[in-house]
Amino acid sequence: MNWSFKVARASGIDIKVHITFLIIVIIGAAQFAAHGVPGYLFGAAMILLLFLCVTLHELGHSVVAQRFGVQVRQIVLLPIGGVAMMQRIPSNPWQELWIAVAGPLVNVVIALALAIGVGFNQATGRMNLTDLLQMARGGPSAGLMLVWLFQANVALVLFNMIPAFPLDGGRVLRAILAMRMNYARATAVAGGIGQFMAILLGLYGLLAGHFLILIVAVFIFLAAGAEQVESRARTVLTGFRVGEAYNRDAATLAETDPLDTVIHRILTSYQPDFAVLNGRNLAGVVTRADVIGALAHGARDVSVRQVMKPQAARVSADATLDQVRQTMSDAGARLAAVYDGAHFLGLVSTEDIEEAAALLQFMNGNGSSPRPKDGGVVV
Ligand code: ZN
Repeated sequence: MNWSFKVARASGIDIKVHITFLIIVIIGAAQFAAHGVPGYLFGAAMILLLFLCVTLHELGHSVVAQRFGVQVRQIVLLPIGGVAMMQRIPSNPWQELWIAVAGPLVNVVIALALAIGVGFNQATGRMNLTDLLQMARGGPSAGLMLVWLFQANVALVLFNMIPAFPLDGGRVLRAILAMRMNYARATAVAGGIGQFMAILLGLYGLLAGHFLILIVAVFIFLAAGAEQVESRARTVLTGFRVGEAYNRDAATLAETDPLDTVIHRILTSYQPDFAVLNGRNLAGVVTRADVIGALAHGARDVSVRQVMKPQAARVSADATLDQVRQTMSDAGARLAAVYDGAHFLGLVSTEDIEEAAALLQFMNGNGSSPRPKDGGVVV
Protein backbone atom coordinates (compact mmCIF):
# COMPACT_ATOMS: atom_id res chain seq x y z
CA MET A 1 0.00 0.00 0.00
CA ASN A 2 1.45 3.34 -1.03
CA TRP A 3 1.87 6.24 1.40
CA SER A 4 2.52 3.80 4.22
CA PHE A 5 5.57 4.11 6.45
CA LYS A 6 7.22 1.33 8.36
CA VAL A 7 7.19 2.04 12.10
CA ALA A 8 8.07 -1.33 13.61
CA ARG A 9 8.72 -5.01 12.92
CA ALA A 10 7.41 -7.92 14.96
CA SER A 11 7.42 -11.68 14.34
CA GLY A 12 9.14 -11.00 11.02
CA ILE A 13 6.26 -8.75 9.85
CA ASP A 14 6.63 -5.09 8.88
CA ILE A 15 4.14 -2.86 10.70
CA LYS A 16 3.27 0.19 8.63
CA VAL A 17 1.21 3.30 9.24
CA HIS A 18 -0.75 4.93 6.44
CA ILE A 19 -0.24 8.68 6.12
CA THR A 20 -4.00 9.36 6.64
CA PHE A 21 -3.63 7.86 10.11
CA LEU A 22 -2.20 11.25 11.21
CA ILE A 23 -5.69 12.77 10.77
CA ILE A 24 -7.04 10.53 13.54
CA VAL A 25 -4.15 11.45 15.86
CA ILE A 26 -4.86 15.15 15.23
CA ILE A 27 -8.61 14.68 15.86
CA GLY A 28 -7.76 12.78 19.07
CA ALA A 29 -5.42 15.54 20.22
CA ALA A 30 -8.05 18.22 19.50
CA GLN A 31 -10.57 16.51 21.82
CA PHE A 32 -8.72 17.95 24.82
CA ALA A 33 -7.83 21.34 23.29
CA ALA A 34 -9.43 23.09 26.30
CA HIS A 35 -6.60 21.72 28.50
CA GLY A 36 -3.78 23.31 26.49
CA VAL A 37 -0.60 21.49 25.52
CA PRO A 38 -1.00 18.68 28.12
CA GLY A 39 -4.51 18.13 26.71
CA TYR A 40 -3.21 17.80 23.15
CA LEU A 41 -0.53 15.33 24.28
CA PHE A 42 -3.08 13.32 26.28
CA GLY A 43 -5.50 13.10 23.32
CA ALA A 44 -2.71 12.00 20.96
CA ALA A 45 -1.51 9.41 23.50
CA MET A 46 -5.05 8.00 23.77
CA ILE A 47 -5.20 7.38 20.02
CA LEU A 48 -1.69 5.92 19.91
CA LEU A 49 -2.51 3.50 22.75
CA LEU A 50 -5.77 2.54 21.01
CA PHE A 51 -3.82 1.73 17.86
CA LEU A 52 -1.28 -0.21 19.88
CA CYS A 53 -4.24 -2.42 20.89
CA VAL A 54 -5.30 -2.64 17.22
CA THR A 55 -1.74 -3.64 16.26
CA LEU A 56 -1.69 -6.35 18.92
CA HIS A 57 -5.06 -7.56 17.55
CA GLU A 58 -3.56 -7.85 14.04
CA LEU A 59 -0.47 -9.57 15.44
CA GLY A 60 -2.82 -12.07 17.12
CA HIS A 61 -4.26 -13.00 13.70
CA SER A 62 -0.79 -13.00 12.13
CA VAL A 63 1.07 -15.17 14.63
CA VAL A 64 -1.63 -17.87 14.44
CA ALA A 65 -1.59 -17.67 10.62
CA GLN A 66 2.20 -18.11 10.67
CA ARG A 67 1.75 -21.24 12.80
CA PHE A 68 -0.38 -22.68 9.97
CA GLY A 69 2.42 -21.92 7.51
CA VAL A 70 0.77 -18.81 6.04
CA GLN A 71 3.18 -15.99 5.26
CA VAL A 72 2.06 -12.58 6.53
CA ARG A 73 3.28 -9.82 4.22
CA GLN A 74 2.61 -6.78 6.39
CA ILE A 75 0.30 -5.09 8.86
CA VAL A 76 -1.01 -1.65 7.85
CA LEU A 77 -2.71 0.76 10.24
CA LEU A 78 -5.41 2.89 8.59
CA PRO A 79 -7.73 5.44 10.22
CA ILE A 80 -10.59 2.89 10.16
CA GLY A 81 -8.47 0.15 11.77
CA GLY A 82 -5.71 -2.28 10.96
CA VAL A 83 -5.32 -4.93 8.27
CA ALA A 84 -2.99 -7.93 8.16
CA MET A 85 -2.10 -8.82 4.58
CA MET A 86 -1.64 -12.54 4.19
CA GLN A 87 -0.42 -14.66 1.35
CA ARG A 88 -3.63 -16.68 1.50
CA ILE A 89 -6.56 -17.47 3.76
CA PRO A 90 -6.54 -21.21 4.55
CA SER A 91 -9.57 -23.08 3.18
CA ASN A 92 -9.36 -25.47 6.15
CA PRO A 93 -12.28 -24.24 8.34
CA TRP A 94 -10.49 -24.91 11.66
CA GLN A 95 -7.45 -22.91 10.58
CA GLU A 96 -9.58 -19.98 9.38
CA LEU A 97 -11.54 -20.14 12.65
CA TRP A 98 -8.42 -19.95 14.82
CA ILE A 99 -6.91 -17.13 12.76
CA ALA A 100 -10.16 -15.12 12.96
CA VAL A 101 -10.67 -15.66 16.69
CA ALA A 102 -7.07 -14.87 17.67
CA GLY A 103 -7.44 -11.12 16.99
CA PRO A 104 -10.47 -10.38 19.21
CA LEU A 105 -9.03 -12.76 21.83
CA VAL A 106 -6.05 -10.40 22.23
CA ASN A 107 -8.44 -7.52 23.06
CA VAL A 108 -10.31 -9.73 25.54
CA VAL A 109 -6.98 -10.37 27.28
CA ILE A 110 -6.09 -6.65 27.31
CA ALA A 111 -9.55 -5.69 28.68
CA LEU A 112 -9.28 -8.39 31.36
CA ALA A 113 -5.78 -7.24 32.30
CA LEU A 114 -7.01 -3.64 32.68
CA ALA A 115 -10.01 -4.79 34.76
CA ILE A 116 -7.83 -7.01 36.96
CA GLY A 117 -5.33 -4.16 37.39
CA VAL A 118 -8.09 -1.84 38.59
CA GLY A 119 -9.57 -4.56 40.83
CA PHE A 120 -6.15 -5.30 42.35
CA ASN A 121 -5.45 -1.64 43.08
CA GLN A 122 -8.88 -1.26 44.60
CA ALA A 123 -8.34 -4.31 46.82
CA THR A 124 -5.05 -2.92 48.08
CA GLY A 125 -6.72 0.44 48.69
CA ARG A 126 -4.53 2.30 46.21
CA MET A 127 -7.36 3.04 43.82
CA ASN A 128 -11.07 3.24 44.31
CA LEU A 129 -13.44 2.34 41.45
CA THR A 130 -15.82 5.19 42.37
CA ASP A 131 -12.93 7.68 42.29
CA LEU A 132 -11.79 6.19 39.01
CA LEU A 133 -15.19 6.67 37.37
CA GLN A 134 -15.30 10.19 38.84
CA MET A 135 -11.88 10.91 37.33
CA ALA A 136 -13.04 9.51 33.99
CA ARG A 137 -15.66 12.24 33.72
CA GLY A 138 -13.12 15.04 34.20
CA GLY A 139 -10.16 16.14 32.09
CA PRO A 140 -7.00 14.24 31.21
CA SER A 141 -6.11 11.73 33.92
CA ALA A 142 -4.85 8.19 34.43
CA GLY A 143 -8.40 7.18 35.37
CA LEU A 144 -9.84 8.45 32.11
CA MET A 145 -7.14 6.65 30.14
CA LEU A 146 -7.77 3.35 31.95
CA VAL A 147 -11.56 3.43 31.60
CA TRP A 148 -11.35 4.56 27.99
CA LEU A 149 -8.85 1.87 26.99
CA PHE A 150 -11.02 -0.75 28.69
CA GLN A 151 -14.10 0.45 26.79
CA ALA A 152 -12.15 0.65 23.52
CA ASN A 153 -10.99 -2.97 23.81
CA VAL A 154 -14.50 -4.19 24.64
CA ALA A 155 -15.81 -2.22 21.63
CA LEU A 156 -13.12 -3.75 19.39
CA VAL A 157 -14.22 -7.24 20.41
CA LEU A 158 -17.95 -6.52 19.93
CA PHE A 159 -17.52 -4.74 16.59
CA ASN A 160 -15.16 -7.33 15.12
CA MET A 161 -17.42 -10.21 16.12
CA ILE A 162 -20.37 -8.84 14.06
CA PRO A 163 -20.94 -11.76 11.66
CA ALA A 164 -20.19 -9.82 8.47
CA PHE A 165 -17.28 -10.12 6.07
CA PRO A 166 -14.58 -8.97 6.23
CA LEU A 167 -14.98 -8.66 10.00
CA ASP A 168 -13.64 -11.52 12.11
CA GLY A 169 -17.17 -12.58 13.06
CA GLY A 170 -17.93 -13.15 9.36
CA ARG A 171 -14.90 -15.44 9.03
CA VAL A 172 -15.86 -17.34 12.18
CA LEU A 173 -19.40 -17.80 10.79
CA ARG A 174 -18.11 -19.04 7.43
CA ALA A 175 -15.65 -21.44 9.09
CA ILE A 176 -18.43 -22.94 11.26
CA LEU A 177 -20.74 -23.27 8.23
CA ALA A 178 -17.90 -24.77 6.14
CA MET A 179 -17.64 -27.61 8.67
CA ARG A 180 -21.15 -28.71 7.62
CA MET A 181 -21.42 -27.68 3.96
CA ASN A 182 -19.09 -26.98 1.03
CA TYR A 183 -16.92 -23.88 1.05
CA ALA A 184 -18.77 -21.95 -1.68
CA ARG A 185 -22.18 -22.58 -0.08
CA ALA A 186 -20.80 -21.57 3.35
CA THR A 187 -19.42 -18.35 1.83
CA ALA A 188 -22.72 -17.60 0.09
CA VAL A 189 -24.70 -18.02 3.33
CA ALA A 190 -22.19 -16.09 5.48
CA GLY A 191 -21.91 -13.39 2.78
CA GLY A 192 -25.70 -12.98 2.63
CA ILE A 193 -25.93 -12.62 6.41
CA GLY A 194 -23.00 -10.18 6.29
CA GLN A 195 -24.68 -7.99 3.67
CA PHE A 196 -27.92 -7.99 5.69
CA MET A 197 -25.98 -6.91 8.82
CA ALA A 198 -24.20 -4.23 6.76
CA ILE A 199 -27.58 -2.82 5.61
CA LEU A 200 -28.80 -2.68 9.24
CA LEU A 201 -25.56 -0.99 10.31
CA GLY A 202 -25.79 1.46 7.39
CA LEU A 203 -29.40 2.37 8.27
CA TYR A 204 -28.35 2.99 11.86
CA GLY A 205 -25.44 5.17 10.70
CA LEU A 206 -27.76 7.15 8.41
CA LEU A 207 -30.57 7.65 10.95
CA ALA A 208 -28.23 8.41 13.86
CA GLY A 209 -26.08 10.71 11.71
CA HIS A 210 -22.89 8.67 12.29
CA PHE A 211 -21.35 8.96 8.85
CA LEU A 212 -18.22 7.03 9.74
CA ILE A 213 -20.46 4.05 10.59
CA LEU A 214 -22.26 4.52 7.26
CA ILE A 215 -18.94 4.44 5.38
CA VAL A 216 -17.84 1.32 7.28
CA ALA A 217 -21.21 -0.34 6.46
CA VAL A 218 -20.79 0.33 2.72
CA PHE A 219 -17.24 -1.08 2.95
CA ILE A 220 -18.52 -4.25 4.68
CA PHE A 221 -21.33 -4.66 2.10
CA LEU A 222 -18.90 -4.49 -0.84
CA ALA A 223 -16.31 -6.73 0.84
CA ALA A 224 -18.92 -9.42 1.53
CA GLY A 225 -19.80 -9.46 -2.19
CA ALA A 226 -16.13 -9.64 -3.21
CA GLU A 227 -15.55 -12.59 -0.87
CA GLN A 228 -18.37 -14.52 -2.59
CA VAL A 229 -16.92 -13.86 -6.04
CA GLU A 230 -13.45 -14.97 -4.86
CA SER A 231 -14.88 -18.10 -3.30
CA ARG A 232 -16.64 -19.13 -6.54
CA ALA A 233 -13.32 -18.84 -8.40
CA ARG A 234 -11.71 -20.98 -5.74
CA THR A 235 -14.42 -23.62 -5.96
CA VAL A 236 -14.02 -24.20 -9.70
CA LEU A 237 -10.27 -24.53 -9.15
CA THR A 238 -10.90 -27.13 -6.44
CA GLY A 239 -12.80 -29.28 -8.92
CA PHE A 240 -10.07 -29.46 -11.54
CA ARG A 241 -6.76 -31.33 -11.54
CA VAL A 242 -3.54 -29.88 -12.87
CA GLY A 243 -2.88 -33.12 -14.80
CA GLU A 244 -5.77 -32.06 -17.07
CA ALA A 245 -4.72 -28.41 -17.32
CA TYR A 246 -0.99 -28.23 -18.08
CA ASN A 247 0.18 -27.51 -21.60
CA ARG A 248 1.09 -30.92 -23.04
CA ASP A 249 2.03 -29.57 -26.48
CA ALA A 250 4.64 -27.12 -25.17
CA ALA A 251 8.00 -27.03 -26.94
CA THR A 252 10.96 -28.07 -24.77
CA LEU A 253 14.68 -27.29 -24.89
CA ALA A 254 17.92 -29.16 -24.31
CA GLU A 255 20.63 -27.78 -21.99
CA THR A 256 23.06 -27.43 -24.86
CA ASP A 257 20.68 -25.45 -27.13
CA PRO A 258 22.02 -21.95 -27.93
CA LEU A 259 20.12 -18.91 -26.66
CA ASP A 260 19.21 -18.05 -30.26
CA THR A 261 17.01 -21.17 -30.39
CA VAL A 262 14.98 -19.89 -27.42
CA ILE A 263 14.64 -16.42 -28.96
CA HIS A 264 13.42 -17.97 -32.20
CA ARG A 265 10.88 -20.15 -30.33
CA ILE A 266 9.55 -17.18 -28.31
CA LEU A 267 9.14 -15.07 -31.45
CA THR A 268 7.40 -17.78 -33.48
CA SER A 269 5.26 -19.60 -30.90
CA TYR A 270 4.22 -17.00 -28.27
CA GLN A 271 5.14 -19.63 -25.67
CA PRO A 272 6.65 -17.70 -22.74
CA ASP A 273 8.14 -20.53 -20.62
CA PHE A 274 10.21 -23.56 -21.56
CA ALA A 275 11.12 -26.75 -19.75
CA VAL A 276 14.77 -27.69 -20.25
CA LEU A 277 15.10 -31.47 -20.47
CA ASN A 278 17.98 -33.77 -19.80
CA GLY A 279 16.74 -36.95 -21.48
CA ARG A 280 13.24 -37.20 -20.02
CA ASN A 281 14.11 -35.46 -16.77
CA LEU A 282 13.59 -31.79 -16.00
CA ALA A 283 16.95 -29.99 -15.76
CA GLY A 284 15.62 -26.45 -15.40
CA VAL A 285 13.25 -23.77 -16.60
CA VAL A 286 13.75 -20.80 -18.95
CA THR A 287 11.28 -17.92 -19.02
CA ARG A 288 10.94 -14.97 -21.38
CA ALA A 289 12.19 -12.76 -18.52
CA ASP A 290 15.38 -14.90 -18.20
CA VAL A 291 16.06 -14.47 -21.92
CA ILE A 292 15.50 -10.70 -21.79
CA GLY A 293 17.75 -10.54 -18.71
CA ALA A 294 20.54 -12.39 -20.52
CA LEU A 295 20.25 -10.14 -23.59
CA ALA A 296 20.29 -7.04 -21.37
CA HIS A 297 23.64 -8.22 -19.99
CA GLY A 298 24.95 -8.60 -23.53
CA ALA A 299 25.06 -12.39 -23.25
CA ARG A 300 23.92 -13.54 -26.67
CA ASP A 301 26.43 -16.27 -27.37
CA VAL A 302 25.50 -18.57 -24.47
CA SER A 303 23.73 -21.87 -24.07
CA VAL A 304 20.39 -22.57 -22.38
CA ARG A 305 22.23 -24.12 -19.40
CA GLN A 306 23.74 -20.72 -18.52
CA VAL A 307 20.39 -18.92 -18.61
CA MET A 308 17.99 -21.45 -17.04
CA LYS A 309 16.88 -21.63 -13.43
CA PRO A 310 17.79 -25.08 -12.13
CA GLN A 311 14.71 -25.67 -10.01
CA ALA A 312 10.92 -25.25 -10.15
CA ALA A 313 8.14 -25.81 -7.62
CA ARG A 314 7.03 -29.44 -7.95
CA VAL A 315 3.37 -30.50 -8.02
CA SER A 316 1.66 -33.82 -8.55
CA ALA A 317 -0.64 -34.32 -11.56
CA ASP A 318 -3.56 -35.22 -9.31
CA ALA A 319 -3.30 -32.00 -7.23
CA THR A 320 -6.25 -29.63 -7.74
CA LEU A 321 -5.61 -26.27 -9.40
CA ASP A 322 -6.38 -24.59 -6.07
CA GLN A 323 -3.67 -26.66 -4.33
CA VAL A 324 -1.23 -25.83 -7.12
CA ARG A 325 -2.04 -22.14 -6.76
CA GLN A 326 -1.30 -22.36 -3.02
CA THR A 327 1.97 -24.24 -3.58
CA MET A 328 3.11 -21.64 -6.11
CA SER A 329 2.05 -18.78 -3.86
CA ASP A 330 3.94 -20.31 -0.90
CA ALA A 331 7.06 -20.75 -3.03
CA GLY A 332 6.69 -17.27 -4.56
CA ALA A 333 6.90 -18.99 -7.95
CA ARG A 334 5.18 -18.17 -11.25
CA LEU A 335 5.80 -21.67 -12.60
CA ALA A 336 5.40 -25.21 -11.33
CA ALA A 337 6.59 -28.50 -12.77
CA VAL A 338 3.84 -31.15 -13.03
CA TYR A 339 4.90 -34.72 -12.24
CA ASP A 340 3.20 -38.09 -12.48
CA GLY A 341 5.20 -39.95 -9.85
CA ALA A 342 8.84 -39.45 -10.89
CA HIS A 343 7.85 -38.75 -14.49
CA PHE A 344 7.95 -35.08 -15.57
CA LEU A 345 4.85 -34.07 -17.60
CA GLY A 346 5.10 -30.34 -18.24
CA LEU A 347 4.89 -26.83 -16.82
CA VAL A 348 1.97 -24.82 -15.50
CA SER A 349 2.01 -21.05 -14.84
CA THR A 350 -0.12 -18.68 -12.75
CA GLU A 351 -1.47 -17.26 -16.03
CA ASP A 352 -2.59 -20.77 -17.08
CA ILE A 353 -4.48 -21.13 -13.80
CA GLU A 354 -6.11 -17.70 -14.12
CA GLU A 355 -7.25 -18.58 -17.63
CA ALA A 356 -8.56 -21.97 -16.49
CA ALA A 357 -10.52 -20.26 -13.68
CA ALA A 358 -12.09 -17.77 -16.09
CA LEU A 359 -12.97 -20.49 -18.59
CA LEU A 360 -14.39 -22.89 -15.98
CA GLN A 361 -16.58 -20.12 -14.54
CA PHE A 362 -18.13 -19.53 -17.95
CA MET A 363 -18.63 -23.27 -18.45
CA ASN A 364 -20.34 -23.47 -15.06
CA GLY A 365 -22.75 -20.73 -16.08
CA ASN A 366 -21.31 -17.92 -13.97
CA GLY A 367 -21.20 -14.95 -16.29
CA SER A 368 -18.48 -13.02 -14.50
CA SER A 369 -14.93 -14.25 -14.65
CA PRO A 370 -13.10 -13.08 -11.53
CA ARG A 371 -9.41 -13.75 -11.40
CA PRO A 372 -8.49 -15.77 -8.35
CA LYS A 373 -6.51 -13.32 -6.32
CA ASP A 374 -3.31 -14.12 -4.62
CA GLY A 375 -3.56 -13.38 -0.94
CA GLY A 376 -6.15 -12.17 1.53
CA VAL A 377 -6.71 -9.46 4.07
CA VAL A 378 -7.73 -10.02 7.68
CA VAL A 379 -9.00 -7.00 9.61
ZN1 ZN B 1 -9.50 -8.90 13.42
